[in-house]
Amino acid sequence: MKRSDVPDALRGGGSRQRAEELALATSRLHQAERLARVGSWELDVESGHVEISLGIRRIIHADARQQFDLGTLLALVDAYDRERVAAEVSAVIADGGQLRTEFGLTTLEGVARTILLRAEVDAGGAAGVLRGAALDTTELRDAESARSASENLFTQGFDSAPIGMALTDPRTGRYLRVNDAACRLIGQSREELLQTSFADVADPEDAERERSAREAMLSGELDGFEAEKRYVHADGTSTWSALTVGAIHGPGGEVRAFISHAVDITARKERELQLQAQAADAGWLSRIRAGLQQDRFVLHAQPIIDLATGDTIQQELLIRLRGDDGGIIAPGAFLPASERYGLISTIDRWVVQKAARIAATGAAVEINLSAASLGDRATLTSIETALADTGADPSLLVFEITETALVDRIDDARRFAERLTELGCRFALDDFGTGYGTLTYLKHLPVHFIKIDVDFVRDLLRSDHDERVVRSIVSLAREFGLKTVAEGIEDEPTLHRLRELGVDHGQGYFLGRPAPIAVP
Ligand code: C2E
Ligand code: MG
Ligand code: MG
Repeated sequence: MKRSDVPDALRGGGSRQRAEELALATSRLHQAERLARVGSWELDVESGHVEISLGIRRIIHADARQQFDLGTLLALVDAYDRERVAAEVSAVIADGGQLRTEFGLTTLEGVARTILLRAEVDAGGAAGVLRGAALDTTELRDAESARSASENLFTQGFDSAPIGMALTDPRTGRYLRVNDAACRLIGQSREELLQTSFADVADPEDAERERSAREAMLSGELDGFEAEKRYVHADGTSTWSALTVGAIHGPGGEVRAFISHAVDITARKERELQLQAQAADAGWLSRIRAGLQQDRFVLHAQPIIDLATGDTIQQELLIRLRGDDGGIIAPGAFLPASERYGLISTIDRWVVQKAARIAATGAAVEINLSAASLGDRATLTSIETALADTGADPSLLVFEITETALVDRIDDARRFAERLTELGCRFALDDFGTGYGTLTYLKHLPVHFIKIDVDFVRDLLRSDHDERVVRSIVSLAREFGLKTVAEGIEDEPTLHRLRELGVDHGQGYFLGRPAPIAVP
């Protein structure tokens, strides 16, 4: 506008100043609208004409001269949203109140934007005027959807990660979120885990260590920790995991959750344990060899009593090893390693030599034979030689064979037992009832005694089941003309009951503990 075009009334100092102020305010408003990506609009309901500000023109790429009505503006709204937006506008015109709606829009230059529209019927009572603002929220929504997309991606990654992932509550230790791999590792379903805390699913010792580490993290002393942890499953199997735990902090630095990931290291751990066992075995191996060379093995004997007369009918020889410190080591500690490394028959032959010398004094003894000795020609020969050398009465030697030792060796065992039976020795089936194929063994082996395993004796007075087992073994033995021996009798009432049930012989701490026996 040229100065000469200004009407006279407006010319002059005051009005010029006002005009400049107005122009300045308008330009500030435009700048603000541009920066905030907002604009204002006004709809004249009757004519349908819509007046839009420069801010809105900029958003929809319209030039200053273009005129709009409700229809041309609605045409810019994405087809998907158009009907809804038209209905919302109509509703406000009809019922009053406020309009707040968001929709997609394509500008006159074909650019997609997201718009938040607010409006209300003119508060001044100018009926038929709807006045409002429009805000371009495209960037905001894009950022939001990018964030939610990345959150979705994270969640998906968390849930389907091949390693175990879990979020836990830093105070209660409860699981907040777990993935499938964690469920597999721990051996529980997601539903089960979400009801429990990390401490409920770990070994008590692991749980205690982890609890204090978590407390240290909560108090800020520790950033995170790593641990190897074992999970025992309901079916008795277990898995090992390498666990790394860290904290997730809130904006104020507070700990909001713990995040842990766990890698399955079961295979590695099993190899490690195997190597440890082998190392332990190797230790036993040298001790056993030294024991044989230095005569460190000793025999204890436990009496086997005739339950009718109270007489000792024979004694079971039980081997022990004297340790470096002079302490006595039980066979359970060194026999398994001797079996694994093929030393057990050597030990059995050592026992046989001593047993024959004891038998030569007229005492009847029972000798435990291992599975390996049953097919071992050298053991058979050493028994024959020992009998010949000592002149012991073969009927004073009773060989005990456990049922478990007989599995897969029944032919070896039969040949072995037949040969010794020819010589006059006798046989007992040890730990009877704990193995399989019991009746098969009775059919094939020339057995004289059945030793009822301590498993059925221990709780005899409290268990109907055990009593029925003992009863059946007694009647089976009678059927075959064999004597029964109950192992592990620890008190008088049990002894009394066994006698009532018709058991012939007994052995146990109550009747006599294993004690060193002199070997001539
Ligand atoms: P086993 O032949 O069944 O021997 C009975 C085990 O029960 C012995 O354990 C004995 O000390 C223990 N025992 C005796 N009375 C009682 C009782 O009242 N209560 C309880 N709870 N236990 C009782 P030990 O001496 O530790 O021997 C363990 C196993 O080692 C034996 O079981 C046998 O299988 C094997 N063994 C022992 N000596 C020899 C041996 O010279 N050669 C071979 N090959 N194996 C042997
Ligand atoms: Mg025995
Ligand atoms: Mg036994």
